[in-house]
Amino acid sequence: MERLGIRDRVLLATKSPSWLVKETGDWDRFLDTQLQRLRSDHIDFYLIHALNQKRWQTVLDTAGLDAMVKAKADGRIRHIGFSFHDSLESFKTIVDGWDGWEFCQVQYNYLDEEYQAGRSGLEYAADRGIGTVIMEPLRGGALARVPDEVKAIFAGYRTPRMAAEWALRHVLDRQEAVTVLSGMGNTDQVWENAAVASSARPNTITEAERRVIEAARDWFRQRMPVPCTTCGYCKPCPSGVLIPEIFELWNSAVMFDDRERQSAWYRSGMVGHGKDTGQCTECGFCTPKCPQGIDIPARLKEAGTYLS
Ligand code: SF4
Ligand code: SF4
Repeated sequence: MERLGIRDRVLLATKSPSWLVKETGDWDRFLDTQLQRLRSDHIDFYLIHALNQKRWQTVLDTAGLDAMVKAKADGRIRHIGFSFHDSLESFKTIVDGWDGWEFCQVQYNYLDEEYQAGRSGLEYAADRGIGTVIMEPLRGGALARVPDEVKAIFAGYRTPRMAAEWALRHVLDRQEAVTVLSGMGNTDQVWENAAVASSARPNTITEAERRVIEAARDWFRQRMPVPCTTCGYCKPCPSGVLIPEIFELWNSAVMFDDRERQSAWYRSGMVGHGKDTGQCTECGFCTPKCPQGIDIPARLKEAGTYLS
C-alpha cells in the first residue's frame, strides 16, 4: 500500500482485541500499535472484536466507547463497529447499548440462519440503521467443499453452479448485508467471488433456488447428532461447561466429516480450561431450559467421547 502509494484507494479494517483489555488506556495502546504496524495514520473500519456479554461489560467498565469516540474525533478511525459471537439476546443488548455503532459483523450462512445473532440479528441491526458485514458465509470453507450428496442436490438445478456460489448467493440475497467476508486463498477465488457478488442482487433468490438451498440445508441437518440450535437458553452452566459450543463442534464434526479438526478445537479451547464435558456434575439445571428437549448431560457424555 505504502510502496504503491494507494492508501487513499484502499479501505483498511482491523479489530481491537477486547479480551486483552484490562484498563482504559489499553484501547489507545492497541490502536496506536496497530496504526504503527499498518503504517497508516487512520483505520477506515475499526471493530471491537469478538464481543459477547462478558466482553461488553469490559467495554463499559473500561470506558471503551469513550476511547472509540475520541479516536474517531481525532481522525485515527473513521467508522466504529463490533464483531460478535454470542446469543441473539446479547447482540440486542450491545446494539441497544450505544447509539454510536455504525456497523457490526456477524456469522451468517445457510446452515446458521438461527445461529448467534442470525437472521433476526441482521434485521434488528438494520432496523436501527446499523450496517451488517457478514462473516463465515462458507462456514470456514466447509460449504464450498460439500459431499457428493449435496453436490447432487445442486446439480438438480437448471443452471450449473459451484457449491460456494450457492452459499454466497444465499447471503448476498440479504438486503441488510453491506458486504460479505469470504476467505480467499488465491486470485482465482477472488475473481470467482467477485463475479458472484457482481451478479447477485438482494431479494432476488427465486422460489426454485430457495428449495435447492433448503434441500442442502436439510441434508446437513439430518446428519446432526444432536438437534441443538445453539440458542444458548441452557446457559450458563454452573460448572462452566460450554454446552452449545460443544454441541456445535460435535455437529460440525459429523456433518462435515471433520472430526480431527473439531476435536482439536475441543481440546485446545475447552479441555484443561474447565469448560469440557468432564466438568458436568449432572445437576440437571440446564435440561428443563432446552426448547429442543435435549437430555443435555447424557448427550454431553456422547459428545465428549466423540470429540476426545
Ligand atoms: S447438567 Fe451438567 S451441563 Fe447441565 S447445568 Fe448441570 S453441570 Fe452444567
Ligand atoms: S442445548 Fe438446547 S438450550 Fe442449549 S443451546 Fe442447544 S438447543 Fe439451546
